[in-house]
Amino acid sequence: MDSFKSLVRVIMTPSTPTFIIGGLIVLLFPILVHLFLARSRTYTVLPSVLLVGPSNAGKTALTTLLERRTGTPSDTHTSQTSATVELAIDEARTEPYTTDLDATGATATKFLLIDSPGHGKLRGAQALERLTPDATKNAKLKAVVFVVDAATLSEPEVLADTAAYLYEVLLRLQKRMSVGKTSKTPETIPVLVAANKMDLFTALPAKLVKSNLEKELGRIRRTRSKGLLDSGVGADEIGGGDGDEADDWLGEYGSDEFRFDQMREFDIQVDVEGGSVLGEKANVDKWWSWIGDKL
Ligand code: GDP
Repeated sequence: MDSFKSLVRVIMTPSTPTFIIGGLIVLLFPILVHLFLARSRTYTVLPSVLLVGPSNAGKTALTTLLERRTGTPSDTHTSQTSATVELAIDEARTEPYTTDLDATGATATKFLLIDSPGHGKLRGAQALERLTPDATKNAKLKAVVFVVDAATLSEPEVLADTAAYLYEVLLRLQKRMSVGKTSKTPETIPVLVAANKMDLFTALPAKLVKSNLEKELGRIRRTRSKGLLDSGVGADEIGGGDGDEADDWLGEYGSDEFRFDQMREFDIQVDVEGGSVLGEKANVDKWWSWIGDKL
């Protein structure tokens, strides 16, 4: 008690150290508060949606359409780098993408749409890197939209190329969920296969886009496991259902056919919806409301 009294006496007695310490507290406190607030603000990251898919599917055209909200986007050139646009969707999720939310004054949820280049070499480097557990967490990635050109998907090379890319995307998301099993399970990232160019008469309907992709993904899965067999991995290891083989197997392990539904085992929802970015009337409403649901 005595020592407390003497401490109070020292503080209350005007002296140079008291003035200096008091002055420093008065000066530094607002600066520290400012630094703290400024720091926490830079950590407010908007949720994001990643746009992937082979080149020429319509990713850039879709980004431009959603950004401008109206009109026919001008012809796009192949995107070599990722472009990010900030978009807003109304809180009630009832407005179409064409509504100018600033003008109506509606409360909006802001998010980032990240376009990524679809060329073979750039694919691995840029888009797939965004699907690692750390990258998805940092970018607050809420959903992946995989754009497909439904008008050329009946061509075997296009189907093979598209499915190979989709396989990589789904496998990364699947692995991401398995990594989390030991610690906290990461938030699930659903995938929308956006079957684009429905305005063209050659376009396959969404149902066929789905079944064709499932068949091709199944074929890729078989080829991959056969590749492992040929490379000398013992049959026991494969039959055991663990080890590398099980890690690289997309969907339900050991199943004959691949179905998108099998991704639910890993808590990953995959939907296929048709739409068109260009054409007489652009129609991306289903994709827009799907995205709204996931934010
Ligand atoms: P990206 O490589 O995936 O970014 O594809 P782009 O956005 O550059 O589009 C490739 C080409 O497809 C462009 O010539 C677009 O004008 C065209 N395109 C995109 N969406 C549609 C669509 O819905 N219908 C039609 N007919 N053409 C489209």
